[in-house]
Amino acid sequence: MFKQDKLRPAIRQKATATLELSSIRKTRQCTLPEWSPSCWTNMTGQCWSIHVKLLTLLHVTSGYYQRWKNTFVVTDLSQRKTLFSRRTKPTDLLTGDEIKAVLSVNLCKMENTTSDVWSADSLLELMPSNPVRESFENAWIYMNKHYTKFQIATYGSLIVHELVYFAACLPGIIFQFLPFMRKFKIQTNRPENFDGQWKCFKLLMFNHFVIQFPLMCGTYVFTEMFDIPYSWEEMPPWYNLALRVFGCAVIEDTWHYFLHQVLHDKRIYKYIHKVHHHFQSPFGMTAEYAHPAETLILGAGFFIGILLLCNHFIIMWLWVTVRLFETIDVHSGYDIPYLNIFHLIPFYGGSKFHDFHHYNFNGNYSSTFTWWDKIFGTDSQYKEYCAKLQAEEKKKGL
Ligand SMILES: [Zn+2]
Ligand SMILES: [Zn+2]
Repeated sequence: MFKQDKLRPAIRQKATATLELSSIRKTRQCTLPEWSPSCWTNMTGQCWSIHVKLLTLLHVTSGYYQRWKNTFVVTDLSQRKTLFSRRTKPTDLLTGDEIKAVLSVNLCKMENTTSDVWSADSLLELMPSNPVRESFENAWIYMNKHYTKFQIATYGSLIVHELVYFAACLPGIIFQFLPFMRKFKIQTNRPENFDGQWKCFKLLMFNHFVIQFPLMCGTYVFTEMFDIPYSWEEMPPWYNLALRVFGCAVIEDTWHYFLHQVLHDKRIYKYIHKVHHHFQSPFGMTAEYAHPAETLILGAGFFIGILLLCNHFIIMWLWVTVRLFETIDVHSGYDIPYLNIFHLIPFYGGSKFHDFHHYNFNGNYSSTFTWWDKIFGTDSQYKEYCAKLQAEEKKKGL
């Protein structure tokens, strides 16, 4: 039952935009939102205000909606009753009746609540606004208007990959010429040299253009098959994207941990992974210095997250940016913890952690986080090494 008239004034005020039944009727159909209410950015302005208020209501009541495994469900928990349930596609539309059902379930409960209504939106309002949002929005819209999806997914991705890769490598390339940076170098007895860097650059170019570029073309096919949107209007908010990218990192790290150990198996090591271990003291560019087969095997971990979590094309570029900065950081050969934003992430391995893998060859198999090595004890040699270094430092200090 829809009981708009019985709402108390305070609640009525909060819900006014929501309860414009006539406007809901006029709207008839809105784009189906993601399960996260914040993903409704793709709805019309009118529906957006409905969503904002609906979000407010959802947090204090027992009715809720969700989209899970491609099924859209409206549930009244108080009566343990499913009101709507239907199979959907990501591009499906939410009908006016479904919006009304969600509102009705929640508003009936609202009548008896006296607690203040909490809203995720009011929390977000406290955050500083993004100064580059407008320029980014204009650039994104311009790109969509002037280039095809194929061009964006293939050539666009290649450009993003190359720009990010070498931008992330640049500090390390400069550090080798700055004497005061030597105190941050992890293996001081093995400085970078031109021959090594040139050898690395040549294989990188082969991997980037011959192995990785065709994979990027494959991402276009993926976005077409799964109707992944490219438009600005359908772009989820930043916190939704951030969570998805974090999810991609967890999945990739897990894949990397187990497959990396397989590549270290004595029977196959010399055929594939030996190439990556050519540099016992890594530098940024060595992050993707690997046998083409390794690029495919370990690179698969990058795409699993995308397959499972991608809800907009921008995830591809965000995830590749984060992953490249991270892998170049752990291969950089320099440990500058206070200036490194990645060190704010709990369980982040960092350059010392992966540098030890190249130095010692055994242990520390994860790519990003340390938990798998902790769980399986494959960081024991690293721990012993750190303890030894600490004891030596202490001795020197005395
Ligand atoms: Zn290895
Ligand atoms: Zn490595």
